[in-house]
Amino acid sequence: MALAEAIDEGRAPCTACRFCLPCAHGVNIPRVFETCNEARIYGDEEAARGSYAWLDEAQRADACVECGDCPDKCPQGIEIPDWLARARELLHRERSNWREDFGKSLTPR
Ligand code: SF4
Ligand code: SF4
Repeated sequence: MALAEAIDEGRAPCTACRFCLPCAHGVNIPRVFETCNEARIYGDEEAARGSYAWLDEAQRADACVECGDCPDKCPQGIEIPDWLARARELLHRERSNWREDFGKSLTPR
């Protein structure tokens, strides 16, 4: 399934207001959603994966432990843990080591 196609209900309605931050576990929630939304808008899987790979690993969607602290802070009513789970499914696929691969490509042989 294509990355953009997997966002079956469209873009996360995140306005990047950052009211949900800080996440006690370090997730950069609006940045993760921005990446998903860019994938949806532009339909460019490689760009989304590449952009996501540059996000610090500690801030990625898989840092979410589903503690439940953030959804009530979101004025958009986004079920943040659910959307982060979707983001994990979309963005942690085969190109999750994109940054490492890119680094290797720059290493002289
Ligand atoms: S549910 Fe996930 S994203 Fe929300 S505060 Fe807890 S760990 Fe952070
Ligand atoms: S509170 Fe909701 S709308 Fe605001 S940045 Fe967080 S997820 Fe996005």
